[in-house]
Amino acid sequence: MIKLNFGNFLPLSTVDWYGRAVCVVFFRGCPIRCSYCHNFTLFKSEQLIGVDVVEDKISQALKFISGVVFTGGEPCAQPEALTSLCEFARNLDLATGLETNGFYPDVLASLVENNIVDRVFLDVKAPLSDPASYGRIIEGNGVDTSLRVKRSLEVADGIVEVRSTLFRSFADRDFVWRIAKDISSVDSVFVLNQGDPDHAWREKIRLEKPFSRDEMMELARVALDFVDDVRIRTREKGEERVS
Ligand code: SF4
Repeated sequence: MIKLNFGNFLPLSTVDWYGRAVCVVFFRGCPIRCSYCHNFTLFKSEQLIGVDVVEDKISQALKFISGVVFTGGEPCAQPEALTSLCEFARNLDLATGLETNGFYPDVLASLVENNIVDRVFLDVKAPLSDPASYGRIIEGNGVDTSLRVKRSLEVADGIVEVRSTLFRSFADRDFVWRIAKDISSVDSVFVLNQGDPDHAWREKIRLEKPFSRDEMMELARVALDFVDDVRIRTREKGEERVS
């Protein structure tokens, strides 16, 4: 039996995949460390279970959902369990979505080639052409990670929704503009998430004042120079298309 380092299971969500009711499977463990991570309790510890336990949970949620989203932590860090669960969901005629930090482009490529993932929600945390700023957010090697994310972006061309989370300490119009430029080579939706300091890993982020909805809209408009479909997600108004 394939084992999964399991984080959590949410039987029903309407916010993880816009326009769909899905269940959400959280994988435990992540190879990088973002200062604003909300799921930092899933960084390291271990809770091994058989994938059949998660399969049962998905089956029980079946009548309420049309898809499954895999998130974490980083699901691609456990390719065997992820592949098996994507295949399981597909056999139930459920759409499969993957939230990933893009650190494992080869795993992503395998899922895409085998046609078992329908939508990739890819975190692009900083301009991909600026490894130093990437490194500041993930508190690690920005060169290696930004190159991996770039490859993941190319692999997911056409089925990708790029997501960037904005905090005052590092994001401004130029930051957003450069991310939009760096992702413009692929066919993608670009979603800017309003960073929520309250549950961040690092105290310096927890002390920040979040951007308002109007500030988010202002920041997002610059992305229209490169991407047609730009959206913001805020606590005040949910998801809105930017025009
Ligand atoms: S990639 Fe995601 S799970 Fe990993 S540290 Fe960053 S925000 Fe947290």
